[in-house]
Amino acid sequence: MATEFFAGLDLGGSFLKYAIGTADGVILKRDKKPSRADEAGDKVFQVIFDAIRELEKEAKRRNGDLKGIGLGSPGAIDFERGRLIGTTPNIANWANADIRGTVEKEVSIPVWVDNDANIMALAESRQGAARGFQNVICATLGTGIGGGILIGGEIYRGSHYAGSEIGHMMIVHDGLPCNCGGRGCFEKYASAPAMVRHYISKMMESGKPVPDNISTFTVFQNAEKGEPEANEAIDKTLGYLGTGFASLINIFNPEILVVGGGVADAGEDFIARIQHAIEERAMKPALRGLKVAKAQLGNDAGFVGGINLAAEMFHKAN
Ligand SMILES: [Zn+2]
Repeated sequence: MATEFFAGLDLGGSFLKYAIGTADGVILKRDKKPSRADEAGDKVFQVIFDAIRELEKEAKRRNGDLKGIGLGSPGAIDFERGRLIGTTPNIANWANADIRGTVEKEVSIPVWVDNDANIMALAESRQGAARGFQNVICATLGTGIGGGILIGGEIYRGSHYAGSEIGHMMIVHDGLPCNCGGRGCFEKYASAPAMVRHYISKMMESGKPVPDNISTFTVFQNAEKGEPEANEAIDKTLGYLGTGFASLINIFNPEILVVGGGVADAGEDFIARIQHAIEERAMKPALRGLKVAKAQLGNDAGFVGGINLAAEMFHKAN
């Protein structure tokens, strides 16, 4: 019998990352191409088709068959139909794209499409930091705060595929306006740009000159040098992270919270401090046995989760 292979595709605003692997998650080949996200929708599909053909060739070269494709896309994705619901700012001309229909028509291989944050959470739960856990919350701290939730080992998508938007959990009543239409969202206070903003306001309060090109990296660096404003900005961000995450812990009582993204990469120490900030705020029964861990798969999570999704859905159907 020919070996069964699965493809994982991770569509982003800059790149399509893709890989082929086995059902148990061994990656055999990986690559990326510019996703042409600001061009016409059919150009984006062309990039996807080219990637799949490359992976099909790789499967043949290894005397196997590409049995299924798991594709992660930004935006709200109707998982049953494999389509984008409405638009996503990351891919300009992709409104209501029939992703599964278009790809299956071209390559005649079954395709499953899901929101990219859901797929990353799946990857962490199958092969990363949350391996072996059933009830999992994954958060990515970057320009915004992305999230994926697994309940009983399965992705929780909400009744209209719009769930798990933890970055838009409102934590400040009448707070800063957010581009989601709400106010006081978690990501307005605890993302990377928020930490930079907290730092700038601390510097201004102290009457110190605000340096150019501040990133969370600079804030952490200055904190290590002992600059009080940098340390205060980090503590303030941790306060908001603790508030948002403690609320989620109280509601979902997960076994593990996995934190990834640029801010989490500031080190193990930051993850421990997030855990401490949660423990100061969450209810004691919800904290029992709670683990807070750094995401392990980094930029690979998108295509690893795509492979996991395709393999699981294929084996459910066959
Ligand atoms: Zn929002």
